Amino acid sequence: MGTPRVIALFSAACILTAGITSASKPSAAPPVILDSSEIPELEPWGRAAANTMVEWYPRIAKLLYSKGYEPPKEIYLKINNPGKGVAGTAGNRIGISASWIKKEPGHGVLIHELVHVVQDYRGGGVGWLTEGIADYIRWGLYEKKPLEWFPVPRDPTKDYRQSYRVSAGFLYWLETDRSPGIVKKLNAASRERRYSPDIFKRETGADLDDLWAEYRGVRKKT
Ligand SMILES: [Zn+2]
Repeated sequence: MGTPRVIALFSAACILTAGITSASKPSAAPPVILDSSEIPELEPWGRAAANTMVEWYPRIAKLLYSKGYEPPKEIYLKINNPGKGVAGTAGNRIGISASWIKKEPGHGVLIHELVHVVQDYRGGGVGWLTEGIADYIRWGLYEKKPLEWFPVPRDPTKDYRQSYRVSAGFLYWLETDRSPGIVKKLNAASRERRYSPDIFKRETGADLDDLWAEYRGVRKKT
């Protein structure tokens, strides 16, 4: 066994500011450190995926900006062989399964995981909102799916708390039609451990449950 092959991918912005200060450039991407040593044949995929992450990081960081937030110094991307499940994130470490990459070589799943790195809620968020924001950025902004693509449960007892794409569609509608900028505010509150459903009322004038009912009504017509 040789030394694991680890590659650091920097954004142009990072190289330009290297040695000066990163604090003054909050949206510059931290380097992505790729480890594909468990499955070297996927190194080209890993490099391309890391480049997508470096390219998308500033956009995600801008959308999820909050004052005083310290971005990670670097982000680790490890391809696990065979790997369990799809992908997961702990702090600034993203792991993705080689068997998933072979099935779904797109980079969308890493955009979702990269959002978790940027969110950095450390237990401060609620599950449906944390996953909803990650899927809103992945499917709505990166994959450019239209609002009609996002599922709405037929069962009226199931609501925004369904998480993932259901919550993402709801956030997409809120952000584009009802309260532009709300995602940034929800993110800041979750990161600063002061999230409460009252934020929806404050930002839109309507209760969260009423907003969901309004969204259902809009989506029925589409
Ligand atoms: Zn997630």
